[in-house]
Amino acid sequence: MSPACRVVVVGAGFSGIGMAARLRHMGFDDFVVLDRGHDLGGTWRDNSYPGAACDVPSNLYSFSFALNPDWSSSFPSQAEIWDYMRSCVDRFDVGGHLRYDHAVDEARWDEQAERWVVRAAGEEYVAEVLVWATGSLSEPEVPDFPGLRDFRGKVFHSAKWDHGFDLRAKRVCVVGTGASAIQFVPQIAPEVQHLYLHQRTPPWIVPRGDRPVSRLRKLAYRRLPALQRLSRLRIYTIFESLLGVFVGRRERTKTMVRKRALDHLRKQVPDETLRNKLTPHYEPGCKRLLLSDDYYPSLSLPNVEVVDVPVASFRTASRGPSTSSSWGPASRPPSRRTPSTSWAATASACPNGGRPRAWRRTRAPPWPASRTCSS
Ligand SMILES: Cc1cc2nc3c(=O)[nH]c(=O)nc-3n(C[C@H](O)[C@H](O)[C@H](O)COP(=O)(O)OP(=O)(O)OC[C@H]3O[C@@H](n4cnc5c(N)ncnc54)[C@H](O)[C@@H]3O)c2cc1C
Repeated sequence: MSPACRVVVVGAGFSGIGMAARLRHMGFDDFVVLDRGHDLGGTWRDNSYPGAACDVPSNLYSFSFALNPDWSSSFPSQAEIWDYMRSCVDRFDVGGHLRYDHAVDEARWDEQAERWVVRAAGEEYVAEVLVWATGSLSEPEVPDFPGLRDFRGKVFHSAKWDHGFDLRAKRVCVVGTGASAIQFVPQIAPEVQHLYLHQRTPPWIVPRGDRPVSRLRKLAYRRLPALQRLSRLRIYTIFESLLGVFVGRRERTKTMVRKRALDHLRKQVPDETLRNKLTPHYEPGCKRLLLSDDYYPSLSLPNVEVVDVPVASFRTASRGPSTSSSWGPASRPPSRRTPSTSWAATASACPNGGRPRAWRRTRAPPWPASRTCSS
């Protein structure tokens, strides 16, 4: 028989766990959270590459209803964020609602029964409400470059970091200079023999200013949660004020960000040729604004080369007189390739095979009429 419940939540990342916690808070007990993974955490379960951390300070990057006075620093690591999520599951007692290894492969709206029928792990869950919390960055994608399939070295996406593979003394090629690459490049650069960093467009980068949280501050946050709320509000206000960089015509904000970023680049990269390569030639805000204090210095290491030509294809490159050969992008001959983050951002955007019709017609009495969406 199909398990029947009030609410099915798909995804046990921040969104799914937050939903579960609030459902419990509102007195709902009749719900399940289905996740295809072996554990909770979503982004913070999957992205364990060296240096993985949040880039929004954790006093804001955490649940408003579950402040954590024990963050070790302003931008804690993936492991610490993942632990925090686990602690929230315990704190709100939602562990019993989580079902792992439950990949949802179909969600359809049964018109007659006015219920969702959600199929996962060979079972059909029937629910009044379906909450789709699968995230937009949960489907890593390696572009299908011509020639890549014939590559005989190791290839992996940053979201599926192979911790069993030793990068030391290897020639490594990183494709991309986005938010993940700028975190792991400084970590691996000192260890590898040579690092080729393929950059299509340089990102705008401003200082990160990560700082450990002192014991006194932790104590103050514990005793006076309002202080941490104040810090949260401050970070929120600063980040919201940066919105002018992305939308609207707040030229003053853009000018301020441009100056901050260019000063940062000038201070951290003394070599003019490298600096020119790393200088963005587009308006701040066209791409995500990044924060880092150790990315630029790592690019000045003698074994690091910034290749500012986009990767178009892979081809065989001779390694000398012997018959052996390696493969590499463009004219470079690296023997290992670590593509940086690229995501199929809309892959799991909605149920019903991407057709949201049933979604729009959801009616779940006695759900308040104002909260239902009619077609
Ligand atoms: C490396 C990285 C760093 C980031 N850093 C930040 C940051 O600092 N600040 C910030 O604001 N944002 C950051 N983000 C964005 C981040 O994804 C969101 O902040 C947030 O974690 C998303 O949570 P989510 O629950 O919506 O999705 P996710 O965390 O992606 O979780 C989705 C879950 O759905 C599950 N799922 C997907 N499809 C199915 C299916 N068909 N059936 C069952 N389960 C399924 C997945 O297994 C996963 O567990 C970062 C993203 C990445 C990749």
